[in-house]
Amino acid sequence: MDKFTRNYVDGFMAELIAKNPGETEFHQAVREVVESVAPYVTANPYLMDLKILERMVEPERVIMFRVPWMDDRGEIHINKGYRVQMNSSIGPYKGGIRFHSSVNLSIMKFLAFEQTFKNSLTTLPMGGAKGGSDFSPRGKSDAEVMRFCQSFMTELQRHIGPDTDVPAGDIGVGGREVGFLFGQYKRLRDEFTGTLTGKGQNWGGSLMRPEATGYGACYFAQEMLATRGKSFEGQTVVISGAGNVAQYAAEKATALGAKVVTLSDSDGFIYDPDGISVEKLGYVKKLKNVIRGRIKEYVKEYPSAQYFEHQRPWGISCDIAMPCATQNEIDADDARKLVDNGCYCVAEGANMPTTPEAIAIFQNAKLLYSPGKASNAGGVATSGLEMSQNSMRLKWTAEEVDEKLHGIMSDIHSACVKYGTEEDGYVNYVKGANIAGFIKVANSMVEQGLV
Ligand code: NDP
Repeated sequence: MDKFTRNYVDGFMAELIAKNPGETEFHQAVREVVESVAPYVTANPYLMDLKILERMVEPERVIMFRVPWMDDRGEIHINKGYRVQMNSSIGPYKGGIRFHSSVNLSIMKFLAFEQTFKNSLTTLPMGGAKGGSDFSPRGKSDAEVMRFCQSFMTELQRHIGPDTDVPAGDIGVGGREVGFLFGQYKRLRDEFTGTLTGKGQNWGGSLMRPEATGYGACYFAQEMLATRGKSFEGQTVVISGAGNVAQYAAEKATALGAKVVTLSDSDGFIYDPDGISVEKLGYVKKLKNVIRGRIKEYVKEYPSAQYFEHQRPWGISCDIAMPCATQNEIDADDARKLVDNGCYCVAEGANMPTTPEAIAIFQNAKLLYSPGKASNAGGVATSGLEMSQNSMRLKWTAEEVDEKLHGIMSDIHSACVKYGTEEDGYVNYVKGANIAGFIKVANSMVEQGLV
């Protein structure tokens, strides 16, 4: 990076941090993008004159609201609700809703910012947004979750719609929660439209949407592996998380011939040296999605596996790592362990799971490393396909959706290679994804004037 561009980045980040104090996750997500796209911006000075980057980091709208609800004992609780509508230059706002105790404005803004570039990469017409609450569904009854979702949607429904903003699931928001949210939306607005995605199969949901993020991450990893003449066949895979993304990443990696040896939740991880077979994964799905239990129960069912309390799985030797739980779950120490143990490919299923220091370690070691905004884009891409099916009032088969998903992941990979290949031939997927995602949004903003 030349001196002028370095100064531009430093000045930009200093101003961003001063204007958004304490929002560390948001700063981290913006820095990663700005470092990648700054050479392009300074080489095209009209983008500086038009303050395109400055506009991109300021959400078009932030909605914050009170979510009051009552638990089964009659006690009243108050949670915070958010919707960050970041950028609508290429389509209606689109992005998930997260219910987790850690949710705050910084996390919402980082996710909405990332979403803008991810949605651009999918080639579908979707702007960027994110929403959520510091409510945790963990340990709550179905009735409590329903009352919370109804209260949350009672406010959110004013701000969303099929051509305005189309939310989906994320951490803590799966099929059950989307159902309760959609039911309340429909009741209050008296319309049956595709305003949420990830809907049930009987009421407008797309086939393959539950599988899409995990499968898509594996399709992207397949493309990366192919650049080195490799595949999933016979590889050992370490996965974190045990939710939607982790389950389907494990399923697809196994189907492609890999041995998946770990899964985790926020309490610890399980290591099954024999591999988490299709049958064992069936147990995990029941445990997490129906019984809503903890991953440690896996070792009671399969005693040859081990459980490691309060630890993450990155010390387990593997060929491929797929972080599928949450942000900043791989730090520099974890990255060193992975590299030292022979891991040569990291495909992110989660959003921003790798810290900047850890990314540098992967890239310096020339690992195949893909940021979530590229490799987990299959989820929102299939949400985009759900929107298309809802607008056309028809339903594609699972094979049709899977084929489209496969094509989209392959196109995203090609875009990363196009914009991210460095002089020595190494593909910097972070740079590639950021520049490819940025150009389309930036050009759209330029063409639409100062809004
Ligand atoms: P789920 O709620 O289904 O699963 C999340 C998993 O991650 C759970 O096992 C959970 O454990 C674990 N987890 C959550 N927070 C933490 C934490 N702070 N520390 C350690 N473990 C944690 O969510 P998803 O699978 O849908 O999402 C996982 C990741 O993928 C997120 O980063 C999300 O933003 C991203 N993503 C999801 C998409 C989707 O389509 N669902 C699309 C694109 C990205 P526990 O049960 O203990 O909380």
